[in-house]
Amino acid sequence: MERPEILMTPGPTQVPPEVLQAQGGPLVYHRGPGYGRLLREVTTGLKAMLKTEGDVLVFTASGTGGLESAVSNLFSPGDRVVVPVAGYFGDRFARIAEAFHLDVRRIEYDWGRATVPEDIAAAVAEAPTKGVLAQHSETSTGVVHDIEAIGHVTREADALLVVDVISSVGAVPYEGDAWGVDVAVGGSQKALGATPGLSFVSVSDAAWAASREATSPRFYFDWAAYKHSYDLPDPESPWTPAISLLLGLREALRLYQEEGEEAVLARHRVLSRATKEGVRALGLDLDGEHLDRAWAVTAVRAPEGIDGNELVAKVRADHGIVLAPGQGPLKGKVFRIGHLGQYDRFDIIRCLAALELTLEAMGYPVKRGAAVAAAEDVFASASAAP
Ligand SMILES: *Cc1c(COP(=O)(O)O)cnc(C)c1O
Repeated sequence: MERPEILMTPGPTQVPPEVLQAQGGPLVYHRGPGYGRLLREVTTGLKAMLKTEGDVLVFTASGTGGLESAVSNLFSPGDRVVVPVAGYFGDRFARIAEAFHLDVRRIEYDWGRATVPEDIAAAVAEAPTKGVLAQHSETSTGVVHDIEAIGHVTREADALLVVDVISSVGAVPYEGDAWGVDVAVGGSQKALGATPGLSFVSVSDAAWAASREATSPRFYFDWAAYKHSYDLPDPESPWTPAISLLLGLREALRLYQEEGEEAVLARHRVLSRATKEGVRALGLDLDGEHLDRAWAVTAVRAPEGIDGNELVAKVRADHGIVLAPGQGPLKGKVFRIGHLGQYDRFDIIRCLAALELTLEAMGYPVKRGAAVAAAEDVFASASAAP
């Protein structure tokens, strides 16, 4: 029997059957009352998740489309933006800004480091700065950056704060308005566990004001076109939306609400700890700063003599479990386990068991069951907690 592969990647993540079933249903025609209700339910759910009173817009695009929309709607060619780059996705945000001819002041960090809010303050102070473009969770390293502290910097400097929350929201604590985030960009295929293809952005009043002044070219992602359509008595999308994916996303949001934010985040915290303790029990080293808050992704150093990419390929070939390889300078040196989204304890246990078997097969000395036992210890103490 051909069994579907098990995704333990940081996006796309495992999609629950309820979501697949919902998006397999009949199309809701995208003009008229049924679609208006669907869209409103999705945007209302996303606003609650993004903790904002601002608007939320949904695009047919992967997360990168949402990032591009932020750059093209907020800024004009030559505008100065500060972009901390501590991994693959920081680099992507900087490259989008460069593609739109912004004056991009990068702050480069070694991959695995957390960005330093004081560095951002210093870079912002060098010259008049329109915005700071940052990641919350840098998926390539697993590191979760301190957006709240960066929010103090941008508020002080009267700069816009634009945050890629694609792999953070729904996996780690996030506050939108309270942290002073002007624009947050999320995606359907990460913590929400919907299928890829939808990106969403929250837009503050200050971001709307900036978008009216900005002169960068935009059409498909023109926020004003979405706002105009959303404000109709029966809300619409300006262009034909991915109706089926919206049906799936609505169901994913319903599951999120049913479990409840607090429980969802607590689950991510425990699964992350169990993964990390399991890996450590095998004698492997973890990569990245502030591991205590890296609830979305665990980055692991491949042991001496074992190539991370080969390990990832073998876990997949032998056990049907897909892990993520290292990117950029971490290629081959690190592999990543995604545990953001619809995962439970047995997903982690199964993954760790596969890792044990594969490492052993590759000649690494493994005490069988050590990783699984360490994870179970974490689960036991989490269950015992009040
Ligand atoms: C997945 C991801 C993206 C978006 O990538 P797409 O392939 O365009 O969906 C962007 N930023 C981060 C931090 C991500 O994890």
